[in-house]
Amino acid sequence: MNDLIPLVNKLQDVFNTIGSDQIDLPQIVVVGSQSSGKSSVLETIVQKDFLPRSAGICTRRPLVLQLVNTHIGNMSPSSASSDSSLNETPDRAEFLHLPNKQFFDFVEVRKEIEAETARVAGQNKAISRTPIHLKIFSKNVLNLTLVDLPGVTKIPVGDQPTDIEKQTRNLILDYILKPNSVILAVSPANVDLANSDSLKLARQVDPEAKRTIGVLTKLDLMDAGTNSLDILSGRAYPLKLGFIGVVNRSQADIQNNKPMAEAFKSETEFFQGHPAYRAIAHRCGTNFLAKTLNTILMNHIRDKLPDIKAKLNSLIGQTHQELQSYGDPTFTGKAHRGSLILQLLTKFASDFVAAIDGTSSEIST
Ligand code: GDP
Ligand code: MG
Repeated sequence: MNDLIPLVNKLQDVFNTIGSDQIDLPQIVVVGSQSSGKSSVLETIVQKDFLPRSAGICTRRPLVLQLVNTHIGNMSPSSASSDSSLNETPDRAEFLHLPNKQFFDFVEVRKEIEAETARVAGQNKAISRTPIHLKIFSKNVLNLTLVDLPGVTKIPVGDQPTDIEKQTRNLILDYILKPNSVILAVSPANVDLANSDSLKLARQVDPEAKRTIGVLTKLDLMDAGTNSLDILSGRAYPLKLGFIGVVNRSQADIQNNKPMAEAFKSETEFFQGHPAYRAIAHRCGTNFLAKTLNTILMNHIRDKLPDIKAKLNSLIGQTHQELQSYGDPTFTGKAHRGSLILQLLTKFASDFVAAIDGTSSEIST
């Protein structure tokens, strides 16, 4: 199945090169009450510290985070032009509102999110519907869009309006109504699931629970003697995509700058050492969550395969025609480009179909 990921990245390269529409990849939208751990979960998926997190409200505008894979596939014409040093490009970030600036330090990314939040939503606690658009370029990410949202807020604080609860709910609904969005419904394990805002909202737009994945955070903060085994094993609340338990960094860990790798290690130790979770440790934790999201993504792509194949075929047909219309075999720049694209597409189409035929049984649910 992992073979499909570089292949899909190549596919996107090809579509980008020829200027066609990209494949319609799903957005993963993170939903939950305030301080349930949404931003923390996103950070671990991206494997970077870059989001403002605190015990109080801090995500006050939607953050649309586009991950861009910079691994240069051998299908892309730019790699044919021999510059292998491009592969060494460090991870970087760009904001839509700062088109000419590149960020290489992710501490600066966080500061910019905070500043840009304050610029539009004010210094106090108000929430704005206007999203911040951030792109992260890395060779270690999948081409994927993640959305971090303000949490559901019950009681207005600071300069929040009296209908803040309604406002946050409507904002969240706007994002999760789209059938193409996968809902990452975050609930803290130290609060009864019956009170979970995220599951309530998800149920409103996805009553059959087909595109909702439950994430249970703060398993380390449960009362002694209690555990969430019945939720994690799917007995307490049925979701087709299941529930995954995670342990994120605590506020103290954040203040002490606990590195992500170390946090991963403590999380693994937590599950493997816990008497209730030991037996299911292999399907707990952030790593497993990231893998599951990949699988969901793959299944989505599989559903789109007939479309993708048709698109490839029609592109090949079009390019053929275009080439013939140049008539004269003298190599004009345009004709050269056309034949390059044709080669690219034809080779890609056969690779793609071969790989899909080889993996389709694996990626079926
Ligand atoms: P958000 O408001 O839903 O985005 O929540 P944040 O990700 O900002 O987290 C809120 C607070 O809870 C922060 O202080 C985090 O450190 C803390 N937190 C989040 N997840 C966990 C967890 O699994 N365990 C512990 N101990 N603290 C967590
Ligand atoms: Mg947040």
